[in-house]
Parts: sequence; structure tokens; C-alpha cells
Amino acid sequence: MLSNTEKEQLRSVLESARKRLAKVGQSALNYSMNHERNIGRDSIDESMEEEIFSTEMRLHDREKYLLGKVDRQLVRLRDDVIDVCEDCGEKIAFKRLLARPVTTLCIDCKEQNERQEAAVEQPGQGAGLDGGGLGEVGAADE
Ligand SMILES: [Zn+2]
Repeated sequence: MLSNTEKEQLRSVLESARKRLAKVGQSALNYSMNHERNIGRDSIDESMEEEIFSTEMRLHDREKYLLGKVDRQLVRLRDDVIDVCEDCGEKIAFKRLLARPVTTLCIDCKEQNERQEAAVEQPGQGAGLDGGGLGEVGAADE
């Protein structure tokens, strides 16, 4: 079980991500113009920004996808199950959640999942999604 402090930390990360994604959805151009104002966040947000910023071509689909995941995590947070792996029910480490706030799988399940995805995914499709702190969300783990 996460402490209240930990939950608050995750909540603020998710909510700032949510706000940003909503903004991106309104206008990619507007987003890039506002980019300067958002500097000063922690590294998670920055890597998310870079990730989004560098993939403007598919910004809207990606933004929608991420927004859905962020929303789902906020529900999981509210229900006090954000640190419970969806697959095996084991605890997800807080550090992992902080590094990958939209993850719903423990590291073991995620690795297994990624191996399965690697087998079915078309070559090149996930290119460029693995470098950022939110690289995991590029994977279709639904
Ligand atoms: Zn698991």
C-alpha cells in the first residue's frame, strides 16, 4: 500500500500530465508555443514533453491514447489499486510508478508483455518510442 504522500505525488504527476495532454489535444502549435512556460517540472514531465514534442506527426492519436491511460490511472489511484499489477496482482514498486506513471503492470509482467509484443508488432512501428521516460506507453499493452 502506498503512503498518502506517495499517492499525492503520483496524483500530481498524473494530473499535470493530464492537463498537458488536454492542451496538446487542442493544438499542437499552441502547445509548442507554451512549451517554455512548462519548464521547471520534474524529469518525468520533461521526458514526456520531449516525447510528445518529437512525435508531432502522430500527436493527436498518441495524446488521446495517453490521456486515456492517465485517466485510467487516476481511477486506479482513487480506488487505491494503482500499485497493484493488473496482470498478477503483485505490488508495483512506487519508484516504478513514479518513473512510469501510467504503468499498470509490475516489471515482471511488463517484460513478459513486451516480449510478446515484440513478436507481433510490425518492424519499425514502435521506433522512437523507447527513449523517453514514458516509452512504455508507446506499447499497446491494452
Ligand atoms: Zn505483474
